[in-house]
Amino acid sequence: MALTGAGISVESGIPPFRGKGGLWEKIDPMEVAHIDAFMDDPARVWKLLIQDMKAVLDKARPNPGHTGLADFEQAGILRTIITQNVDSLHQAAGNNDVIEFHGNFAWQRCLNCDGMIETTRVELDQMPPRCNCGGILRPDCVFFGEMIPQQALARSQQVSAQCDAMLVIGTSATVQPAATMPFIAKDNGAVIIEINREPTPLTQPISDLALMGAAGSVMPRLVRAVSQRRSST
Ligand code: NAD
Ligand code: ZN
Repeated sequence: MALTGAGISVESGIPPFRGKGGLWEKIDPMEVAHIDAFMDDPARVWKLLIQDMKAVLDKARPNPGHTGLADFEQAGILRTIITQNVDSLHQAAGNNDVIEFHGNFAWQRCLNCDGMIETTRVELDQMPPRCNCGGILRPDCVFFGEMIPQQALARSQQVSAQCDAMLVIGTSATVQPAATMPFIAKDNGAVIIEINREPTPLTQPISDLALMGAAGSVMPRLVRAVSQRRSST
């Protein structure tokens, strides 16, 4: 299985949460992406955050990091992806079993009638955007201060406990409870393989193999290496 974070989508033009670049340096996501901030002033959070995310995500396409994971699924090596991302790029790349730990930005939900509308179809001429019923729209993803969807959490714990190996790609492993999944896997005997541009809190204590580099260049090499190894045995 694989656990992915914002880093795998950086080469698709989506800025990560921490580190250099983009949208997240201008605002404090812990404050702006908090459910209390949204409920207090939905128009402000739409203008500061959601509108820009929509512009970036509407255009984003899978990169070789994502397609490498789809190749692994095709080859019968990879079963499940747990992702902290809300960008739907794993599904776009062709993976079929994706647990979205933090929900999905592709849909907006009406606070009044619970109706759903695709994010690409939301008109931004009024702030905050509204449903046909007049209710305010919110992204169908998990804000800070909100619970992880119960089923996503339970299934993530289960697949983490059962896997033989976990590929951990582009996550700073600091956002809980997603960051506990590699520890669950390791405790149950899995091999932990990490791909990141820099060391993380997992690297020293539990990573069996740390492949340092950008996901978009490391993944294709890994896919090639695995396929050569399999064809020679
Ligand atoms: P993070 O932003 O905390 O950390 C990103 C990690 O990716 C860092 O460790 C960084 O070294 C690494 N990285 C950066 N570029 C990389 C590359 N090209 N290849 C490999 N690794 C690279 O990400 P997180 O741990 O996923 O936590 C951030 C939270 O914010 C998540 O919970 C997520 O829901 C949300 N988020 C989602 C998106 C998205 O959907 N694409 C984008 C930003 C933030
Ligand atoms: Zn509505």
